[in-house]
Amino acid sequence: MLNLILFGPPGSGKGTQAQKLAEKYELLHISTGDLFRHELGNNTPLGQEARKYMDQGKLVPDEITIGMLRNKIEAHPQVKGYIFDGFPRTIPQAEALDKLLAERGQSITALIAIDVPDEEIIQRILLRGKESGRSDDQDEKIIRQRIATYREQTLPVYNYYEEQNKAHTINGLGLIEEISQRLFQVIDELSPY
Ligand code: AMP
Repeated sequence: MLNLILFGPPGSGKGTQAQKLAEKYELLHISTGDLFRHELGNNTPLGQEARKYMDQGKLVPDEITIGMLRNKIEAHPQVKGYIFDGFPRTIPQAEALDKLLAERGQSITALIAIDVPDEEIIQRILLRGKESGRSDDQDEKIIRQRIATYREQTLPVYNYYEEQNKAHTINGLGLIEEISQRLFQVIDELSPY
């Protein structure tokens, strides 16, 4: 199985690229941000709880996030692989993911980070906010907080997978299609999975 983590700061294009990878390699795309927004849209207790953190640019607590991810994996036992987008965002989440996969005789094949400079990210997110109406994409203060959260809590996840020799980085500047090609190249060069 091919189990990928698409990694990078908010606005680096993970969602767009994850969809393309899911299509090309027939993977189940799991975006925890999308799962939270779905709960929020349905005004479920989980959505109401998540909103408190999302509106501040902070991370939803690990127990909640990991529980939601476990449910999603358990609901789709027959897949060719997963592409995780926006997860794991903390070391405990990475450890929980490794454990969840190990229980199924699987593991992460690779983590691929999309590298984009901060100033480009802020512009991209503000533009996306205008189109999507996402409230956390419209306020520069929240965006800066999300970037700070990424640096403090999420970046260590890269090192965690680097220690397992699974981390890769691609340049995230350019056309969507060019970035997809860079991702395909990394994936196609992975040792047989
Ligand atoms: P995203 O769409 O991935 O940018 O996520 C939007 C928001 O959802 C984040 O700013 C967090 O508040 C929350 N969120 C998404 N994924 C996670 C995660 N893996 N752990 C904690 N919070 C998350």
